[in-house]
Amino acid sequence: MSVAHELAERSGYGADFEIHVFEKRPLQVGGKARSINVPHSAKDGRDPLPGEHGFRFFPGFYRHLPDTMARIPSHDGSVLENLVVADRLEVARMGAPPIVISARFPKTLSDLVTDFEAMFSDTGLHHGEVSFFAERLWQVLTSCQDRRLAQYEGITWWEFLDADNHSEAYRNLLVNGLSRSLLANDPVHASVRTVGDTNIQLLLGMVAPGHPTDRLLDGPTSKVWIDPWRTHLEGMGVRFHMDCAALQFGIADGKCSGVDVVTGQTHSTVTADAYVFALPVERMASVLDHSQKRPDNPLAADPQLQGIMAVRDNVAWMNGMQFFLYADVPITHGHLLFADTPWALTGISEAQFWSDEHLPNCGDGTVRGVLSACISDWDKAGILFGKKAKHCSRQEIAAEVWAQIQASVNVDGKTLLSDDNVHSHFLDPDLVQHPDGTVHLTDAEPLFVNFIDSWALRPTAVLATRNLLLASDYVQTYTDVACMEAANEAARRAVNGLLDLFGSDADPCELWPLHEPLIFAPFRHHDQSRFDQGLPWNGHLL
Ligand SMILES: Cc1cc2nc3c(=O)[nH]c(=O)nc-3n(C[C@H](O)[C@H](O)[C@H](O)COP(=O)(O)OP(=O)(O)OC[C@H]3O[C@@H](n4cnc5c(N)ncnc54)[C@H](O)[C@@H]3O)c2cc1C
Repeated sequence: MSVAHELAERSGYGADFEIHVFEKRPLQVGGKARSINVPHSAKDGRDPLPGEHGFRFFPGFYRHLPDTMARIPSHDGSVLENLVVADRLEVARMGAPPIVISARFPKTLSDLVTDFEAMFSDTGLHHGEVSFFAERLWQVLTSCQDRRLAQYEGITWWEFLDADNHSEAYRNLLVNGLSRSLLANDPVHASVRTVGDTNIQLLLGMVAPGHPTDRLLDGPTSKVWIDPWRTHLEGMGVRFHMDCAALQFGIADGKCSGVDVVTGQTHSTVTADAYVFALPVERMASVLDHSQKRPDNPLAADPQLQGIMAVRDNVAWMNGMQFFLYADVPITHGHLLFADTPWALTGISEAQFWSDEHLPNCGDGTVRGVLSACISDWDKAGILFGKKAKHCSRQEIAAEVWAQIQASVNVDGKTLLSDDNVHSHFLDPDLVQHPDGTVHLTDAEPLFVNFIDSWALRPTAVLATRNLLLASDYVQTYTDVACMEAANEAARRAVNGLLDLFGSDADPCELWPLHEPLIFAPFRHHDQSRFDQGLPWNGHLL
């Protein structure tokens, strides 16, 4: 949709574009960001209850996606105005009071240590663990880009933080918690470059004056963003073909010659001047699997496509579930990190951010609160059934998630979340239970994770086959973490490739590198000169 949008706006500047979007799903556009109607929940003419694949967070450091959102009309303004600021991030703990992340700009390593020590006092962390963690973060902050790519890309965040040799609290709070909290970075596999850079962006967002860390939509995602977007695109002439899945394609004379698609049982070939694949990595790999059996095998023509095959398994499960409540329980004005829950839960109490028109007009009209959670660790035993999430039935998952959240929120003798306040719940339908009804779940839409050493394998948006482009979250971007911002940035890069290909005079889409504060520039500059001489990072200016 980002490609369609940016390209449609550039039609007529020396090149006209006729744009068609092909989506595998029968009804809903928006990919993993879409809202999911809770089946059979609509009563008396109201809308269905709004489920979701996972709640949506728009960190302050995003620039590309908000820039596009500002050009999607909604009521009198744009959908960007539907983003609201959440001003807190609460680290909830099972059986202990929560930690609320503070906001102060660290100018030195000792500032950073002091801030973290204040935040994480009385948490079971051993002496020196906070300063060790702060030093590691400081190292990334003051390292030059070349070192991050050449060295930190090949080290996992887990290893860099020496997680195996520290306390359980250190692993839960500082290693797992902070990296999984808002963007799904699995620290065991993800690189220091990705997690370090992302944490820095989140941290800077938290502490930069007047700059929000955390923003979210003021209503269900599809209603306040995706649906108005589709309407706007259709108004610009973009045509959507739903229930139409790409299967395979071939290359002839150095160009993509057509894409075979299927709608229901009907197979056909779509031919166009150019093709942009905006598929998740594992789906693109499956298209390539089919394509490479053809005599006009595209993988033979383009080594970057072979890279996609090499990273196709770099995915992790992250799935959402919602608890619909009779009475709203805001908990905190922002995201919740249930730091020591075995299933690495995160959450947000959404109704406080939504405008009043939504919930009373959904379901049977009695829901007033939505607690939306994401499950990020599917391989640890839970507290109710002692089973891994992926070995639970859908009902067991619901009971287990509720129990882990209650254990984290109902502390100090208070009961914030009671069983009798739950109207109903909804678990991501992407989790498909084995037909025998038991233990085998599969996740139909996993999330790409920047495993170590994946950068060089990941393709750029513009490929050697020039009329074939990529626009997904796994593509090489400045953003460099699988999220909506990266997908949007990749789309802009693809559109710029198309403008070149067709000789358009339109202005290219803007791209923004990640912002790194000037205050650390001398450190990075110094480290650059050490790196150029083959010397290790030393964190000093001299
Ligand atoms: C639980 C969860 C929570 C998340 N929360 C956030 C968040 O808060 N903030 C954030 O920035 N990011 C978040 N993300 C990440 C974000 O959702 C993804 O990075 C982003 O959606 C990627 O966009 P995409 O267009 O590359 O792929 P997708 O969103 O996966 O879209 C791909 C589209 O292609 C379609 N498709 C698949 N195969 C075919 C085919 N063969 N033919 C035609 N169509 C096909 C799919 O149906 C889908 O519509 C979250 C992810 C998860 C899993």
